[in-house]
This record gives sequence, C-alpha cells and structure tokens, in this order.
Amino acid sequence: MPNASYVGRHRPAAKPSRGRRFVVPVALLSSTVTAGLVIRDAGASELSPEAAAMKNVSNSVAGLGLTADPDALAAATANRAGARSSRDMARDAKNLIVDATASASSAAAQAQAAADKAAAAQAAAVKAKAEAAAKAKREAAERALARAHRWVSPVSGYTLTSGFGWRWGKMHPAQDLACPVGTSVRALSSGTVIFAGWSNEGYGNFVKIRHWDGTVSWMAHNSRLLVSVGEEVAPGQLVAYSGSTGNSTGPHVHLEIHPDDGAAVAPRTWLADHGVNL
Ligand SMILES: [Zn+2]
Repeated sequence: MPNASYVGRHRPAAKPSRGRRFVVPVALLSSTVTAGLVIRDAGASELSPEAAAMKNVSNSVAGLGLTADPDALAAATANRAGARSSRDMARDAKNLIVDATASASSAAAQAQAAADKAAAAQAAAVKAKAEAAAKAKREAAERALARAHRWVSPVSGYTLTSGFGWRWGKMHPAQDLACPVGTSVRALSSGTVIFAGWSNEGYGNFVKIRHWDGTVSWMAHNSRLLVSVGEEVAPGQLVAYSGSTGNSTGPHVHLEIHPDDGAAVAPRTWLADHGVNL
C-alpha cells in the first residue's frame, strides 16, 4: 500500500514538493478544469499526462521526418507575400491618399494665396489706373484753364500809333493799333461780351468784353462785329473786323483796358504784365 494517497491520475511528486507549483499551459488547465479534474500537486519539472501526450505526438510527427509540400509552402509564402503586399499596397495607398490630401490642401492654399495676390495686384492696378485717370483729368482741366486764362494780342500785323496819354489837349486812355480795314480783331482772353453795337460816343462799331478776371477790354472803330451781347468767347476768338467807323481818322483798333471795369490803364503796360508785348 502506498503511504501517500492522492486523487486523480496524478502520480505523487518524485521529490519533496516545494509547494503548489503548476507549470501547465493555460489552455490545458482550462480544459482540465472543465473536465472536472483537480490538480493537487505537481512538480515543477513534471508534465501532466495530457501535456506529455501532446509532447509525444509532436515528437512523433517530427520523428516521421515529415516535410511540408514545397508547392504548398511556396503558395503559403506567396500568399503571405501577397497578403503582405496587399497590406503594403493598402498602407501605401493610404499614405498616398494622405499625401495627396495634404498635397491638395497645400495646392489649394497656394492657389488661394496666388488668387489673393492676383486680386490684390488687380485692385492695386485698378486703383493706380483710377489715380492716373484722376491725375490726367486734373492735369487736363489745369491745361484747359491755362488755355482759357491766357492772354493774346487783339490783332496781328499792326502799327502802334497813338498811345495811352494826353493827346491834343485831352486824355487818350487807349492804345491805337493801325491796321488795314478788315483785319481780324480777337478777344484778349476768355470772357463774356457785354456790349456789341454802334456807339453814340464816337467809338463806331464797338465791342466790350468782360474777361474771366473781371478786366473789361474795349475795341472800337470796327467795320463789322461778329459777336453779340452775352456771348462767351475764348482767347484769340475772332470777334470783329477792324475799320475806321465812328470818330476815327484812319483804319485802326482803339484798345482800352479797364481792370475790374474801373478806370482805364495803359494797355501796353498791362498786357506786358500778362505776357503780351505789343
Ligand atoms: Zn484811340
């Protein structure tokens, strides 16, 4: 009779137990417990009968010298390679998608930046164009004003005769410019015709123009008048033909200048101050 009893099919430990030590695969233990078996005591170096059986089978298979079918092995390898390749391709594709997405985002950002830059450049160009147009318009207006405000000689091809001053015991408040009858008589500058007609005071066919600066010019003894009262005239505009009408001793233009429609001043001096030398 054995002096030690035990339950189940386990042999007693070959050497003194060092405690409850189990070296059993988890799967085996699980199946063993499921089968209602209880492992009481097992040495660290001992295998359960089940484990030992499995080991024996494994050894037997190895002992038979069985080798894997080369084709099957190749196929399995290929499958693994294929699977790996598929995984790699999937990963690569994913990476490509990520890269493409990032690239698309970058391209979109660059396109937006380029669009913003182009829009800014266009806005700047429009602004510059508008400023250039405004400047051109301003300069054109200045040139037009300068043209409107320029002063010119009333006639060309004249001879200076009686000047501003005393003559024959009376004041001659004008400059006489002798010229053939029918010589063009022109406005000194821009202005408005304030008299155009026959003078009862000896000026014959007489024209008065109030200019843009308030100065009034008189031109007398004309043979013919070409403008009417209220008419706007430009510098150098033809307003009459010279003659010898009224109190005149010969064909000439009698020119008077009245600053601010006041007293007459010496025409040559006044015109010289305005850039016109008679
Ligand atoms: Zn005169």
